[in-house]
Amino acid sequence: MSKNQCLQCASKNKLINLVNLGNQPWCNDYQTKKLKIYPLKVNFCNNCYGAQLSFFLKKEKMFSDNYYLSGDNIELNNHFKKISNLIKKRFSSNLGFKRKILDIGSNDGSFLYNFKKDWQLLGIEPSKKAITISKKKKIKSLKTYFNYKIAQKINTEFDVIHASGVFFHLEELISCIKGIKLLLKTRGLFIVQFINLSEIVFKNHFDQIYHEHLYYYSLNSLKKLLERFDLEIIDATKSTIHGGSTIAFISHKGIFKKTQRMIKFENKDKKNLKKFLKKTENFEDAVKLIKINFLKRINYYKRRNYSIYMLGAPAKASTIVNYFKINKSLIKKCYDINQYKIGKNVPGTKIKIYNENKIKKINSKEIFLIMSWNYKNTIIKKFRNKFGKKFKYFFPYKH
Ligand SMILES: [Zn+2]
Repeated sequence: MSKNQCLQCASKNKLINLVNLGNQPWCNDYQTKKLKIYPLKVNFCNNCYGAQLSFFLKKEKMFSDNYYLSGDNIELNNHFKKISNLIKKRFSSNLGFKRKILDIGSNDGSFLYNFKKDWQLLGIEPSKKAITISKKKKIKSLKTYFNYKIAQKINTEFDVIHASGVFFHLEELISCIKGIKLLLKTRGLFIVQFINLSEIVFKNHFDQIYHEHLYYYSLNSLKKLLERFDLEIIDATKSTIHGGSTIAFISHKGIFKKTQRMIKFENKDKKNLKKFLKKTENFEDAVKLIKINFLKRINYYKRRNYSIYMLGAPAKASTIVNYFKINKSLIKKCYDINQYKIGKNVPGTKIKIYNENKIKKINSKEIFLIMSWNYKNTIIKKFRNKFGKKFKYFFPYKH
């Protein structure tokens, strides 16, 4: 495929620079050694209004030993419960047979677990760690990457195919959609959660950009992508999960009517289009300004003899520290609860990660930089309960 071809709509020579975040290490490479770096640059498509990375790191490097476990995350689990209740409401059980659900990127089985009682489950997941946990929950899972070939092997039709937090990762996007088309029952639903590009652009969420996120969809670009396979979005809603996502409900073309909510969503998108395009033009400048303001702020605290600690080492923190060029002289330590990260360094830096639960007291000259801003409420509550007003914090940019 030509370098200047959009992978979402297949048009040629419509890609322009959205933002260049320089060369960065892989955001989930938790090591103590110096890491290899790769371009982190996003191109925007002027035809479908979606975006994609200019350079793809191999999926085998990124996902075969993933540190990310869905079960660790309360908000995500609540979100999964909500979606599963919606699905169960729509698809009646007690039919004398079991409904079938396929979860692509099923991780540790946290989503499928909600269907364990009445449904026939299948998870697809490449990460060894996650799949071991999922098997303990007795959730049938295949350790592989989903694509058309795997779909042909599975050879069963599903009432529901679900892909949450994975649809922007797929190196084999086209093959994967072909597989979904093949395995979706005539009246089945494909439910996908994705980080909406308009959310990133309007809120300057540039740290949602990292090597694991290959694609950045807009409602329009997802529509164009699905159209190529006779699939259509019949309903969509916004969710706060992963820092602002859209959940789309997709069916074979012409089977269901679009919901009122979907029509409203589309109209709003159309109305905002001009503003959105303007924002994409200025996005890189907005991001540069964030960097300048952040460094000013850090220096302000430094002058006042504060010790600054990072709170959380999610993938997005890697984008920030590497783009801002933050090192140990600016930020002393990082805290996280993920046991796989503790003892390692924040990728690309010498900032070491310590166990967050071992913070016993906070003095008046200590301040925390909250990196997982998408879970800010939970984090702030936890620390305020433990340390009261002594807990002082800030964000890498406005939240
Ligand atoms: Zn395109």
